[in-house]
Amino acid sequence: ATPMSIMTATGRGAQAGVLIKNAEALERFEKIDTLIVDKTGTLTMGKPELVAVLPEPGYGEEDVLRLAATLEKGSEHPLAEAIVRGAEARGAELGKAEDFEAVTGKGVKGRVDGQAVALGNLAMVSDLGIAPGGLTETANARRDQGETVMFVVVGNSVAGLVAVADPVKESTPAALKSLHELGLRIIMATGDNERTAKAVAALLGIDEIRADVLPQDKASIIRALQAQGRKVAMAGDGVNDAPALAQADVGIAMGTGADVAIESAGITLVKGNLDGIVRARRLARATMGNIR
Ligand code: ADP
Ligand code: MG
Repeated sequence: ATPMSIMTATGRGAQAGVLIKNAEALERFEKIDTLIVDKTGTLTMGKPELVAVLPEPGYGEEDVLRLAATLEKGSEHPLAEAIVRGAEARGAELGKAEDFEAVTGKGVKGRVDGQAVALGNLAMVSDLGIAPGGLTETANARRDQGETVMFVVVGNSVAGLVAVADPVKESTPAALKSLHELGLRIIMATGDNERTAKAVAALLGIDEIRADVLPQDKASIIRALQAQGRKVAMAGDGVNDAPALAQADVGIAMGTGADVAIESAGITLVKGNLDGIVRARRLARATMGNIR
């Protein structure tokens, strides 16, 4: 493509809220055959809401929620915000946690009212050497609806579950359909549980999922695909997504996401929805097509 046609393309992109860093990003984007999308905040709104609190026998709903939310005040994770907001909306009086610790990709732990409390996924519970408790079926039924279910551990046992829902963005289904039509294979990568991931993927016709992915593993997934000769773009919004965005042939950041994600990306979608990827793909095709 000529410098002029590239300027025209990047200018058109910018008007539509698709910021293309340079000619190289546009050229590479035309050759992409695989798109990896982060689930939370990219496919979904990224604004989860607390939808259920399920206590084990011996605990009340209120106790479970208060302990969970008190602990989550120390975390900046969107799931933590959902739990704290949900608890406050239900009138819970939150205490203060001690010895707070966040375990990346797994959850949080600390002490509340002198008791050891932890909150997180199955990996978190297993790491503590604790059995998942009697609510497995209930948890699975909720995951099959696309909800994220977390265990609340008090002392040496599970005291209950909290379930959170993060609706799919309105623009996501149509954008994914267009991206399929433009010849991309779509892989969803998420730190979330496999059942939850499958439910969301089925709704959207996603080709492949990688669930229970630790943040640091997203870049290795991309490297493995590249080793098979795939040309990979990655769309994500989080601080944790930055290494994967840098590893991808083209990194795509949500303009609504973390600054470091934007810095690592070749394309930024100002509006934070996937329509921008469709537009970028069409621009890349039209521009690069010009010189063939
Ligand atoms: P993603 O950003 O892909 O949604 P993360 O790697 O941030 O995933 O988290 C993976 C999983 O770890 C979450 O689905 C949740 O079960 C658990 N988790 C992470 N952080 C927290 C937290 N602050 N509170 C409770 N659970 C958490
Ligand atoms: Mg994330």
